[in-house]
Amino acid sequence: MQCTLCPRECGADRSGGERGFCGSGILPRVAAAQLHHWEEPCISGMRGSGTVFFSGCSLGCAFCQNNAISRDPLRGRETDVDGLRIIFADLIEQGAHNINLVTGSHHADIIAEALSVPLPVPVIWNSSGYESLETLRLLDGKIDIYLPDFKYADNALATRFSGINDYYERAEAAVREMYRQTGKYEFCSNGLLKRGVIIRHLILPGEIQNTLAVTDRIAELFSNGEVLFSLMSQCTPNGHCPELNSSVTAEELDAAKLQLYSAKIDGYIQDLDSAANGYVPKWSD
Ligand code: SF4
Repeated sequence: MQCTLCPRECGADRSGGERGFCGSGILPRVAAAQLHHWEEPCISGMRGSGTVFFSGCSLGCAFCQNNAISRDPLRGRETDVDGLRIIFADLIEQGAHNINLVTGSHHADIIAEALSVPLPVPVIWNSSGYESLETLRLLDGKIDIYLPDFKYADNALATRFSGINDYYERAEAAVREMYRQTGKYEFCSNGLLKRGVIIRHLILPGEIQNTLAVTDRIAELFSNGEVLFSLMSQCTPNGHCPELNSSVTAEELDAAKLQLYSAKIDGYIQDLDSAANGYVPKWSD
């Protein structure tokens, strides 16, 4: 069967052993499954988010902080539907507030099957934002919280850093579909997020106009109280992207904050001291 799970639609016959752009086989590989404390406070809570990091990626950004696994689809432990259910149960037993599926688009079919048995905690789809609508519809009713990136408002940047020229329209359609599925964000009485969409945006050093255009577009698409926005400043030089070999400046962060405040978008702002490799999890071999 030809794979069209992500918008690259490269058509690889993965069940026949072919590997497409993402490099992934038919079964998912998990590079780490752990309680993670560095998500937004409403996701991490006190005990941590039960985070499952999948190896490989269908987008492949040059500045990816997880490039050790996103560019190595054979890393980690291969698993299947039953194996995923065991991983979820184990994280929940450890006290996870939620199950947080990181970069799973290239295995969305298997993940959706694993989620056909409902979990007792919210399920989060943590994604690059480069999603096909058909794939998102496989997840309809199974995901409580969408955590998509909205990386670029400018496809020239998407071409430069991610090798695609349709990110902007794909991400916009994806966040609309995510919102259609979850509706307005809702918190539990303990301050944790119960359902909704948090749109993340990573400021790219030297590209503040992109950030301002993204926040403008989110403010046009959604009214106050509908989605949350998470402004991230942790872009860390990763040795794979000479064009982005510095960190976000205080001036750039201030300009982005000002824009968010004036657009009256609710959400989170990450401090500049988050730009450190210590925030990158430890991966399985
Ligand atoms: S998920 Fe992988 S194999 Fe499938 S279309 Fe995307 S890049 Fe190609």
